[in-house]
Amino acid sequence: MQGKRVVVLTGAGISAESGIRTFRDDGGLWENHRLEDVATPEAWRADPGLVWRFYQARRRQLNEVKPNPAHEALAQLAEGLDNFTLITQNVDDLHERGGSSDVVHMHGQLVTLRCEASGRSEVRMSDSDLSDTFLRCSCCVEPARLRPDIVWFGEMPMHMEAIYAAVDACEVFVVVGSSGHVYPAADLVHIAKANGARTVLVNAEAPLNVEAFDEVHLGKAGELLPGLVETWLSDNE
Ligand code: NAD
Repeated sequence: MQGKRVVVLTGAGISAESGIRTFRDDGGLWENHRLEDVATPEAWRADPGLVWRFYQARRRQLNEVKPNPAHEALAQLAEGLDNFTLITQNVDDLHERGGSSDVVHMHGQLVTLRCEASGRSEVRMSDSDLSDTFLRCSCCVEPARLRPDIVWFGEMPMHMEAIYAAVDACEVFVVVGSSGHVYPAADLVHIAKANGARTVLVNAEAPLNVEAFDEVHLGKAGELLPGLVETWLSDNE
């Protein structure tokens, strides 16, 4: 991969070995909730208390988990390459804590909260920010309610212009730990492939879009990625 433009897209599977459950565990439930009840703008309007408590629990969990060897391997890959972009669908901060910088969070982040009035995001992770009571912003004259800084189903993913630019231009496109269910993320591999990139998958099982990959590595990311990264960094083709 030396000298190549490389893009990596990660999904919930890369954080599974850190103890954060993926989306589709337990027969389609996320931490015992139906996605429609906790991860849509309609849910926030209908029952903001339930949605708030759900995300506050996800935010508190960040203090209990650690990055795993897969996160660390990607930080090492970034360091060894000249042209590297890391895009994640994950809302946790394990890439950053595993040593990566400039991570493109297309579905938002748990560590920040967004002002409902101004749309501005602020990092709010102190102990007093993690209870189940609603929080207010620090940006408005009359502080407004904060919402999770998450892209819910039916909302537009973030940074799409930069993402399409990186994917259009890449020569190698790697996906780690994603089921290929959630769009537009699941389509990025098709765009990369149509532009001539070599496409590589590292996932526990074959995802929906498996046919789009030139190279498939099935297994746990934390076990496979460190060795793969070592090979990729030493390969000059
Ligand atoms: P997904 O839950 O739909 O799929 C996860 C995939 O990872 C599955 O194909 C599974 O086989 C694979 N997997 C599980 N354990 C693995 C491991 N140890 N190594 C490699 N692969 C493994 O996740 P997705 O495709 O990212 O889709 C959905 C969404 O879930 C995203 O929008 C994301 O925002 C949200 N989400 C994020 C987190 C997080 O931030 N950690 C957690 C749950 C859900």
